[in-house]
Amino acid sequence: MSYESLNGRTAVVTGAASGIGEAIALQLAGEGARVALLARRGERLEAIAGKIRADGGEALAVVTDVTDDRSVADAKDRVQGAYGDVDLVANSAGVMVPSPIDQGDVAAWTRMIDTNVSGVLRVTGAFTGDLIGVAAEGRTADLVNISSIGAHLTFPNYSVYSATKAALTHLSQCLRTEVGPRDVRVTNVEPGFTDSELRDHVTDPVRAGELDAMVAAVGSLTSEEVADLVTYAVSRPRHVNLRQVMVLPTRQA
Ligand code: NDP
Repeated sequence: MSYESLNGRTAVVTGAASGIGEAIALQLAGEGARVALLARRGERLEAIAGKIRADGGEALAVVTDVTDDRSVADAKDRVQGAYGDVDLVANSAGVMVPSPIDQGDVAAWTRMIDTNVSGVLRVTGAFTGDLIGVAAEGRTADLVNISSIGAHLTFPNYSVYSATKAALTHLSQCLRTEVGPRDVRVTNVEPGFTDSELRDHVTDPVRAGELDAMVAAVGSLTSEEVADLVTYAVSRPRHVNLRQVMVLPTRQA
């Protein structure tokens, strides 16, 4: 089997405080990568970083709000100061809240766009120079974006969330035209229902009930199962790029 070790690699994982991002950070560290964990909840990040270190890995907790330019710039300085060039960026930070169009909840729209699209751009922009530089030296470089099956399906009341994910999926494909020729891989992952804290932000009882019913009907993946695919993708030989990975519970259409 073709396999490239992650020993010696340096990863930045956003959304690392929970769910898919946490699972990605733990798995990458378990495979030998140094991992910088980015999210807003410092205590959660410290606990996960502590677990990685206790298991013999290397991890850095970096409190970051991806919606804030200054915060991302500070995170970039901290990560590069501690670890040098970054060769793997996994964008998993994201939020999903229902926002029926006729309610006109501009704050919810803005929060999702600013986290799921602009946040990915801020973090990607901060480390693209590293990725291109590392690849130019003949080393493996990865940009991994956690989009969603919502990029393709339509969900009433989640139009804005789905649109942010469609934007992210298209952004990933477009970025491949810019950085792929320079040997930076771009992998876009589109999970279906996955156990995490994402659903906890849906507080409206009617909407929460709808979500629970959908999940009950088809089941869900674990965050570790999604992270497995990321770990697989980034451990291929550097000329092999899984550009788009859609992963659903078997019963989800
Ligand atoms: P979680 O809510 O568990 O994880 C989201 C993470 O993003 C949290 O760790 C949160 O940490 C972080 N985050 C949120 N806002 C910000 C911010 N402004 N700055 C920095 N970090 C932030 O859910 P998932 O793990 O499920 O979500 C991960 C990704 O997977 C998301 O992009 C989501 O859209 C996508 N996805 C999830 C699916 C699912 O069914 N769960 C299905 C398809 C896609 P903190 O609050 O500490 O900042």
